[in-house]
Amino acid sequence: MTDDTLHFLDNHPFLNKDGEDYKNLLHTLDPQISSYIIEEVQAQRESLNFIASENYAYDAVREVLGSVLTNIYAEGYPGKRYYPGCSASDEVETLTVERCKALFRGEHANVQPHSGSQANMAVLSSVLEPGDTLMGLSLSCGGHLTHGHPVSFSGMFYKSIAYTVDPKTEYIDYEALNNLAQFHKPKLIITGGSSYSRLIDLEKFQRIAQSVNAYLLVDIAHTAGLIAAEIFPSPFPYADFVTGTTHKTLRGPRGGFILCKKIHQERVDRAVFPGTQGGPSMNNIAAKGVAFHLASRAEFVEYMKKSIALAKFMTRAFEKRGYRIVSGGTDCHLFVIDLTNLDTTGRAAEALLEKVGILVSRSAIPFDPQKPLITSGIRLGTLACAARNITEEQAYDAIDSIDIILRNPSDEQIHQTIKDRIKNIALQLIEL
Ligand SMILES: *Cc1c(COP(=O)(O)O)cnc(C)c1O
Repeated sequence: MTDDTLHFLDNHPFLNKDGEDYKNLLHTLDPQISSYIIEEVQAQRESLNFIASENYAYDAVREVLGSVLTNIYAEGYPGKRYYPGCSASDEVETLTVERCKALFRGEHANVQPHSGSQANMAVLSSVLEPGDTLMGLSLSCGGHLTHGHPVSFSGMFYKSIAYTVDPKTEYIDYEALNNLAQFHKPKLIITGGSSYSRLIDLEKFQRIAQSVNAYLLVDIAHTAGLIAAEIFPSPFPYADFVTGTTHKTLRGPRGGFILCKKIHQERVDRAVFPGTQGGPSMNNIAAKGVAFHLASRAEFVEYMKKSIALAKFMTRAFEKRGYRIVSGGTDCHLFVIDLTNLDTTGRAAEALLEKVGILVSRSAIPFDPQKPLITSGIRLGTLACAARNITEEQAYDAIDSIDIILRNPSDEQIHQTIKDRIKNIALQLIEL
C-alpha cells in the first residue's frame, strides 16, 4: 500500500472510525479481503456513479451496520421474540417501525425484509395462493423482476399478466391496463418500477383494482425518498400494500420494508416471519431507523429536489445532443436513453463507459427487441452524484464525456483522455 492509499483509509468510516484499528485488524487478519475493499474505496472515489439504484449510505448508517446489534438473534417481533436478550432490539425495532409509518403515512409497517425482493415475496405470499393471477408492469417497460417476470418467484408460482406503457407516449397505458384487468380478474395488481421515470396515477390504479376486487401493491423501491420528502404523493390511501427499499433514494442500509393497512397487519407479519425469513438483521433494522430519521429532515428534502433537478437538466442536455429519452423526460431521479440509432447496445455502452470511470446500467427500452442481458438502452440516475454535490457544470462535462465515448467506441486515445477527465471531476467531489 502506498501512503496515498493509507491516507484516505484514515478518514473512512466504513472501514473503521479509527483508521489505525482497521489497518491493524482487518489488514493483518485478512489482507486479501482488506485489499479488495481498499481497491473499491479507490474505485468509488475516482469514478462518477450514475447507476440509478445505487447511492452512498450515510456514515452513521455504516457505523450502525458495524455495531454489536449484528450479534443478536431476534426471531419474532418486539415483545414476542423466540430468544432472550432482545430488550434493546425491541426498542430499536419499535422505533424504526414508528418512523417508517410516520414517514410514509402507513397504518402498519414491517421493517424486517432483508431486501426489496423479499418484501415483495412476503406481500405476494400473504394474499395469493400458488396459481393465482397477478398483474405487474412488464420488465421492458420499467417494471421489476419481482412483479411477475417468469424467472422470478413472482412469475413461477403465480399466473402473471404484464401490462405495458403506451408505445407512443411511453407512459403507463391505463386503458389497456383496465381492459387486461377486466379480462384476467387478477387478485393483485402491482405498480411501481425500476426504470419507469414518470409519476404514476395511483388513484386510477386504485379504481381499476377495486373494480375487479384486486389488492393494490405499490412498490416504492425507487421513489421512497421522493415520497418521504413529499415531492411524490403518499401511496396511501390508494394502496393496500406498499413495499420499498432503504438503500436507493433513502441512503440507508441494503434492505426492504413493507407498509400496509391495519387489517393486513397479521398476514404481512406472518408472511415475513416465519413465512419467508428467519432471524431479522437487527443492525440493519437500526440502520433503517437512522435512514428514516435522516429522511425526515429539511436537508433531505433539498437533496431529493437537487436529484430531480439534476436528472431533468441531464435529460435536456442529452436531448440537445440528439439522444432520445424514453417517454421524453423524467419526473424523478432517473431516466432511460434509447441507443437504437447509435448502432450500439445497452450492454456495449455500459462496458465502454465503465472503462473510463462512468457507471451507468444497461436498460431495456419499452418493447425492446434485444434480450434482457443485451438491451437497447442505458439507465442513468442522479442519486449518487447529487450526494457528492456534483454541480451542473460538472454534470455537463460528464454528459459531454458520455457523448464523446458513445460516438467514438474504438478510439483508445480518446478513451484515455476522457478517463483522465472523469477522474479529475470525481476527485473534486466530496468523498463519501
Ligand atoms: C430495486 C427494486 C426492488 C428490489 O430490491 P432488492 O433489494 O434488490 O431486492 C424491488 N422493486 C423495485 C421496483 C426495485 O427497483
